[in-house]
This record gives sequence, C-alpha cells and structure tokens, in this order.
Amino acid sequence: MSPDGANPVVCHTVFSPRPVGSPVSTVPEFTFELTVCQWAERHWPPAGERDAPIVVARQLGTRRRRWDTIVVECDPAGLRARARFGTAALDSDLLHVVGHAPADWAWYQDALPHPGYPWRYVREAVHAAADRGVIETRRGGNGRIELRRKWGYPDWVRRIVAIENKPDLDASAARDLRPQIERDVALGLADEVWIATAATGERVEPALIEDVPVQAGILTVDVAASTDDDADVAWHPQTLDPSEPGTRILERPDGGAYDASAARFEYADADWKANKRLEIAERAYARGWRSYVESMRPDCRHFQLADEDGWLLPRCGAKERSQTASECHGGCPDFEPEPPAWRQQGWPIEGGPGAGVRSLLARQRERRRPDPEES
Ligand code: SF4
Repeated sequence: MSPDGANPVVCHTVFSPRPVGSPVSTVPEFTFELTVCQWAERHWPPAGERDAPIVVARQLGTRRRRWDTIVVECDPAGLRARARFGTAALDSDLLHVVGHAPADWAWYQDALPHPGYPWRYVREAVHAAADRGVIETRRGGNGRIELRRKWGYPDWVRRIVAIENKPDLDASAARDLRPQIERDVALGLADEVWIATAATGERVEPALIEDVPVQAGILTVDVAASTDDDADVAWHPQTLDPSEPGTRILERPDGGAYDASAARFEYADADWKANKRLEIAERAYARGWRSYVESMRPDCRHFQLADEDGWLLPRCGAKERSQTASECHGGCPDFEPEPPAWRQQGWPIEGGPGAGVRSLLARQRERRRPDPEES
C-alpha cells in the first residue's frame, strides 16, 4: 500500500477485462491487445513447443500498415549476439553501417555500399554508431573517417508473425478485415498472418472463417483465463515467403456493380522486405509490448495494474474498468495526480506509484532480454 493507505500499484484481485456474463464485444481492443501480447509471450507458438526465444511487441509495421501484435521468433545465439549492440533499436541508417562495417580499418566510403542517398548522411550514421559504441572510428592519415566493426551484426531474426486483434470477430468484422489481410498476404512481409479473437465458448463459425483470406490463421484467446489452454487455433495459417518479392496493393475496385476501375499495385522487392523486416525486429527488440505505459498516466492516483495469476493489465480505479490508452491522459476528466505524500519515504523504492509501475514493467521487459555476457 502507499503511505496513506490509498491505491496500491498492483491490485492482487481476481481480474477479468471482461465483466463476468458480459458480451465479448465489451472487451476494449486495447485490453485485448495487451492480453494477446502476454499470452504470446508465455505460450507462443499456439501449436507445438517453443524451440527458440521470442520477442513480442505491439503497434509496429511500415508507414502504411501497423500490426497490433508482432512476434519475432529468434535464433538463440543470434539473439544473444544482438544484445551486444545495446537495448535501443538500430534504425535503417545504423543497420546499414553495422551490417557492412569491415573487420579492418577502412574509409567509410570504401567500406560501405552506396546507400542511395548522400554520403553525408552515412557519415552522420557512422558517428552515431560510434557514439553508441557499436563500431570503432578514427581519423585516417589523410583526415578521412575510417571505421571497423566491433562485432559482426548477427542474423538473429528467424520469423516474424503479424497478429491482427479483433476481440469481436463477427461476420461483419471479418468482411471489413478481409481487404487488409489480403494486403498483408500479398506483400508477404511477415512469415505468418493471424487474426486473434476473443473466445466466446462457441466454435468459430465456418462461414466466418470463409470471410477472411484462407492464408491467415485464426486464434481464439480466452481473455478471462491465463492457463496453458487459454487459446485455440480455429484455422491454421499458410506460411508466406518473405524472401520473395511481394505485391503492394495500393487501390482496388470495391466490387460494386458499377465499379469498372482497375486495381493499382506495385512490387516490393526482396531487399526492401529484408531491410524492413530487420527494422521492425529492431524496434520490437527495443520496445517490447509494455511500452504502452509511456503513453498513459501511471502517475494518476487511479491508475492500477490489475493482477490475476500474473496477467498484469492497466485498470482505472475511477472508472472501475480497464481503461484504453487513448483515454488515459492528463486531459482525462477523472485524472488526479498522485498525492505528493505517495512520493515520500522512498516508496516503493524511489518516486511514487507511477514511477513504480514504470520500473516494474521495465524490469519485466529486461528479464526477457538475453544477457550480452553470455554471447
Ligand atoms: S488518467 Fe483517467 S483513465 Fe487514466 S487512470 Fe487516471 S482517471 Fe483513469
């Protein structure tokens, strides 16, 4: 408890994001998304045994498309080797540098392939990589900037799985999802595409399965359970081939009787896909899925982390339900800053409950990362 006996950070209560007896559609998408992330972290893959470490993240993708949940299946040795490069993400510019940095000293313009943009940006990335301690640089005899690698950048990403979360997947929602999933399948940036929906106790109707592209898997997740059998595969996905060029569907006819327009699309080459996959994996590695707290107000006196058997989900004491990320901000009508007294006496270690929530989630994220000393 906090010093004045008010809200604890973690409520050790039996908690279900869906009130007992209420329809599944009342599960907020945000809460369901966090539940799916937690489930994936514990139990992925949905069929069979896990044989490699995974990284789970949320709301990542490309400029055109963000997936709700991302599962990166990793090579164990590669993931340990990746840890040497630090916990922050390497963006595309830094990846270009560390991916091509030579073993021996060389002028950066000789060592790195031309990136397709001016060298001055590469030079900035070389300096940024050196500042991060992931390469070494020096001035050569003629004043040129030379670099060499400290470690080879590892091949740590085995597969990327994209999950679209739809707690209330009825026929109408499935039809609405179809064009988006078709785009995902045509682009083939992920190795698998899934739709996760909340379990209702009923089996997923075959007619509903027919409404989504056959290549996408369908997973039903029981949001009120946290046992090993809390998810079922209603439909297995087809494995896509990200190493092949993909098709980016830009526009398509709506299929109406008077729609004679042509579809517009462009190709995504295999190199673009490989680079984009690595960028997504890097951001997933850095952020994980618990970074949601950064866009919420855990320093509000009503903010709680509700805990049931290890499920930790944000809950609002004022609203008496799980709040969404978009409503949990300083402009929320129920927002009340945590009282200064909560921040005294070193509770829980330093700072108030808000700082405690942040550090708890950060510690949980760190526990999921490998130790670079092991590599
Ligand atoms: S900011 Fe609003 S939604 Fe968030 S915990 Fe406070 S009262 Fe609840």
